[in-house]
Amino acid sequence: MIRVLQADITTLKVDAIVNAANESLLGGGGVDGAIHRAAGPELREYCRGLGGCPIGEARITPGFKLSAQWIIHAVGPVWRGGEYQESKLLANCYRNSFALAVENEVKTIAFPSISTGAYAYPKDQAGKIAIAIMRDYENKFSEIIACCFSAADVKLYEEMLLSSPRQRGSRI
Ligand code: ADP
Repeated sequence: MIRVLQADITTLKVDAIVNAANESLLGGGGVDGAIHRAAGPELREYCRGLGGCPIGEARITPGFKLSAQWIIHAVGPVWRGGEYQESKLLANCYRNSFALAVENEVKTIAFPSISTGAYAYPKDQAGKIAIAIMRDYENKFSEIIACCFSAADVKLYEEMLLSSPRQRGSRI
């Protein structure tokens, strides 16, 4: 089941939350900063040992002080007009995050709207990619949360969910 929720992702009681990280994995602004503050300094120490992460890929860490057991750090692309493989790289973020979640037996997972803040990816285009890939993995999870920060994002995601029906019997 995919659920749209308006919340601060750091407060969610799920198996894993996804972070919109940057290539350094050492923290930044937006949701990344919020997650590092809430998880505590041990997260930065742990991330230092990972040696960064390329755009489109993801890395998993413990949740430290969060309620979530895991944090999956996905590095989204910066929007540069759409002709620099942004859509492929953003889709890879979601797919690679889901792959790590499956490997670690995650059943409930929450995603922020990756790349749509400081990285300026158009929200409707990013949302379409997010929902399409969430649909692909829906049957493998008991709950996938699209965690929106603003009421406008909630509206956008809910509209997009309605126009993208669940794929019955799909299996990945
Ligand atoms: P990026 O650099 O990938 O664009 P940002 O953190 O700037 O990442 O923004 C990604 C999305 O996360 C934006 O839609 C922003 O509104 C949202 N966001 C920011 N803080 C939080 C939070 N605490 N919980 C959930 N979403 C958040």
